[in-house]
Amino acid sequence: MSKVSLDEIVKFSKRKGFVYPSSEIYGGFAATYDFGPLGALLKKNLEKQWRYWNITKRTDMEEIEGAIFMHPKVWEASGHVGGFSDLLVEDTETKKRYRADHLIEDAGIMENAGALTAEEIDKIIIEKGIKSPDGNSLSSAKAFNLLVKTHLGPVENDTTIAYLKGESCQNIYVDWKQVVETTRRKLPFGIAQIGKVFRNEITVKQFMFRTREFEQMDVQYFCHPNEADKFYEEWKNYRFDFYTQSLGFSQDNLRWRQHDEDERVFYATDAWDIDYCFGALGFKEMEGLHHRGSYDLDQHSKFSGQDLTYLDPYTNERFNPFIVECSGGFTRIFLAMMFEYYSEEQVKEGETRIVFKAPYNLAPYKCAILPLMKKDGLGDKAKEIFASLRTQGIMCNFDESGSVGKRYRRQDENGTPWCITIDYDTLNDETVTIRHRDTMVQERVGISELGEWLNSEKF
Ligand code: ATP
Repeated sequence: MSKVSLDEIVKFSKRKGFVYPSSEIYGGFAATYDFGPLGALLKKNLEKQWRYWNITKRTDMEEIEGAIFMHPKVWEASGHVGGFSDLLVEDTETKKRYRADHLIEDAGIMENAGALTAEEIDKIIIEKGIKSPDGNSLSSAKAFNLLVKTHLGPVENDTTIAYLKGESCQNIYVDWKQVVETTRRKLPFGIAQIGKVFRNEITVKQFMFRTREFEQMDVQYFCHPNEADKFYEEWKNYRFDFYTQSLGFSQDNLRWRQHDEDERVFYATDAWDIDYCFGALGFKEMEGLHHRGSYDLDQHSKFSGQDLTYLDPYTNERFNPFIVECSGGFTRIFLAMMFEYYSEEQVKEGETRIVFKAPYNLAPYKCAILPLMKKDGLGDKAKEIFASLRTQGIMCNFDESGSVGKRYRRQDENGTPWCITIDYDTLNDETVTIRHRDTMVQERVGISELGEWLNSEKF
């Protein structure tokens, strides 16, 4: 298990252009981040892998892309407005608010305080003498709704209130019937979505681990109630395998955590998290798998007055299907990738290198073109190869500054699996040197074979 600190990951991400603080020339804006060139590529590659594993490779999945603004009633039906909310306490001096469960967890009193009631929280705060991070006393706990609220249209009043999507599953529930009708799907089948989510989190901390704007990767699997237990188990295994097989995460960095009965929402019959070990931060939730029953469709049916039932064409049975939910935080998975692939290794006595060991499919650049010299036609030849590979759809980088050794190190940090060096022999025999990121072994390959060689995903 890696014990790399969050601080190292933050600095590395910024220095290399994976992730920058957003609006930094204005001093940044709390817990918002931009993906730089390397980060944007890594993110797109993760999206591609996720889509392949959860949708393309299966025959029982569809994908939708829902709107960020949804009818305000959606959030009443889901329980976010007027229902479930987080409990906050206020610093009686500074008036700053904090998530009560986080303060209790941070004080080391318990690992998961999310299920505590307001009364239990008040009791713990008094008994354990918990203070605010500024050392002041705290108010009693009060419920707070995490949805980001806005007004749409020219006037601002109670009738124009709208909320930004607080969880990406809601589009899927609301659209479920239309997906059945338009695709003519029969149960069991699932609907996936990758989408932006907004939560007015009170405590934003630990870099991209908890932000107010993030993305979720969701699978909602619809099935007959009698089959829900079976599919729940299947999806649990399938999602775990995604991390080890598709993203190449080490088993040691992953663990299962079952929710206690009082931690689960009342309608869920079972809930597990896949936790990831975020270096020195330790194990934390990365994805939640929930056995939700038919609660979501029941609620939307009740609040919209629409029949959302499924008519089984074989048995003529009519019912609201049960749902197995796999909800992963895209930005958290991205952060996990930064921890997983970041490594420092000793090359020889007194010399270390940082290598970003992303698997080939996920690596931001597949290769880098390095002319040994800019002069004597080597630079021009290198640019020609660079342009040709880009035209073939191979995402590659070009670097002509500094010694070749320094350029290799830069590309190791970028996670580039292969460096292609153009030297004097290239001009005579149309071959280049390919240097492998992980083994540092070099071999000679003909320029005409490069496209095929790189596309064959040898990593
Ligand atoms: P937490 O307990 O950490 O607040 P949650 O249980 O509320 O998370 P869900 O609503 O189940 O989370 O969301 C599914 C996934 O979305 C989580 O497993 C996590 O990876 C991600 N996620 C939730 N909140 C945030 C956030 N504020 N920033 C980044 N990712 C988040």
